[in-house]
Order: sequence, then structure tokens, then C-alpha cells
Amino acid sequence: MEKIPLMDYVGTPLLACLFIVLLWLQWRFPLRRQHFSVLHRLVRNFVLSIPGFAIVRLAMLPIPIAIALWARERNIGLLNWLHLPTWAVVIATFLLMDYAYWWWHWANHMIPIFWRFHNVHHTDLDLDVSTAARFHFGEMIFSIGFLSLAVALFGIAPIMLVVFFITFEAATLFHHSNWRLSIKLERILNVILVTPRMHGIHHSIVQRETNSNWGTIFCWWDKLHRTLRRDIPQDAITIGVAAYREEHELTLGKLFALPFRTQRPWRLPSGEAPARETQPAEKLAE
Ligand SMILES: [Zn+2]
Repeated sequence: MEKIPLMDYVGTPLLACLFIVLLWLQWRFPLRRQHFSVLHRLVRNFVLSIPGFAIVRLAMLPIPIAIALWARERNIGLLNWLHLPTWAVVIATFLLMDYAYWWWHWANHMIPIFWRFHNVHHTDLDLDVSTAARFHFGEMIFSIGFLSLAVALFGIAPIMLVVFFITFEAATLFHHSNWRLSIKLERILNVILVTPRMHGIHHSIVQRETNSNWGTIFCWWDKLHRTLRRDIPQDAITIGVAAYREEHELTLGKLFALPFRTQRPWRLPSGEAPARETQPAEKLAE
């Protein structure tokens, strides 16, 4: 395995520390009431993520990095053509890549073959920092293609790709965490960033709410596409996917197999589709 020094010596230890800090913060200052055993979910999400971690390190980073090197050499891709100053390259990389990931997340919900895999992430019955690692390895394999295409199209520099990826993962850990920030502070952060309350709405069993808040780092893309929802108080949200609410159906083996089974329509086991009437709000609800 070829070393990626910035990821191996800086990114990975940094993300591991952030994970532990957020684990402590969400335990000390919880946001939503948890309904299931934290330890159970932690172990399950961790084991489920092991093949994903391996894919990230062995393919999902090395392949786009190799493409970034190749694109730079051949002068391919938007940022390689523009010859911008460094500060502008940094800003452009973050904006272009985060916006591309907004579309990728949208595709994961809207294109049935992708949803089969992304569904596994959403079936978590509580939401916390460990959910950030709960991705089916199939989703990671698909995202190699997406990431490679984005890197070539935009002409992302290899180093900037790694810097962006570390930030992207840190943002993912943060907005999945169950850490209760003061609402005042979170509303300020939510002018720029995707925050835990905002992403909590994305994990609701109400389909209209799941089909919103697709951003990862910046909340602006949802604003741009009118898919930003801030009107649901956290204690009104039931986390999960309506059709997959039984714990015994969400064991490790069944989660790995889930994408390859017939997908159930978005309804509760009772047959009813969860719905809610709310008034669109500019301010993030408590
Ligand atoms: Zn999603």
C-alpha cells in the first residue's frame, strides 16, 4: 500500500480524535433522546464500516489521487486551465467539491440503485457520531466513480483533494453527532455550515424531510435548490426509514444483504406513510 502521508499521519489521527471528542460531547450534552442501546449501535456501526474504511484507504483515495496527478500532468480540468492564485484554488476546490457532493447525495436518494445502498446508512434507528461511519461498502465503491469524475472535471490538485477529504469527513462526523449546541450558536453556525439539528431533519422517517438537507459542509446548496428545511424541532423527529423500524431486521448480516433484497415502499409497517404539516421557517428550530 502506497503511503498518503497527509492522510495517514495527519488526517486519520485528527479524525480519530474528533470522533472521540464528539462521542464525549454527545454523551455529556445529548441533543435527541436515544431509544436504543448506544453500545449496541456503536459496535454494529463500527463493524459495518470496516469494509468501507478499507475501500476508502485502498481505492477511494488512491484512485482519485492518481487521476488528479494525471490531470495535472496533462493539463486537464477547470482549475488546471485557470491558473488561479493558491487562495482562490483553495476556495474553488471547497465550493466545487462540496457542491458536487450535494448532487451525489441527491443521486443517492433519487436513483433507485444508489438508494438501495444509501438506505443502509438511513436505517440507523438513532442518530449519533457513529452513524457517520455506517455506510455500506457498495456505496463507497460507487462513490469512487463519482469522486474520480469530479476530480478530473474540476482539475483538483492532489494535495487539495486530500485536504478537502479530511475536512469533508470532519464535517460528516460533526453533523451526524448528537451533540446539543446552544441554539443561538447553532443558528450562527448554520448560516454557513450543515449542523447536527439541520442534518437530524434529513434522517427523519417523514420522506419529505429525508428528501431535504443534502449538504455536507456548507448549507448554501440546499438554500439554492430550495431543499433546506429548518422547521422541525428535534424532539418531534423519529429517526430512521419508515419501512425498516424493527431492530431484529437490522442486524449486521441483514444490513449487508439489504441492497440486494426487494426494497419496501416508504411506509410504516402499519401501511401508513408518516407525514407532518409545518410552516417553512427561516430559523433553525430547537
Ligand atoms: Zn442521505
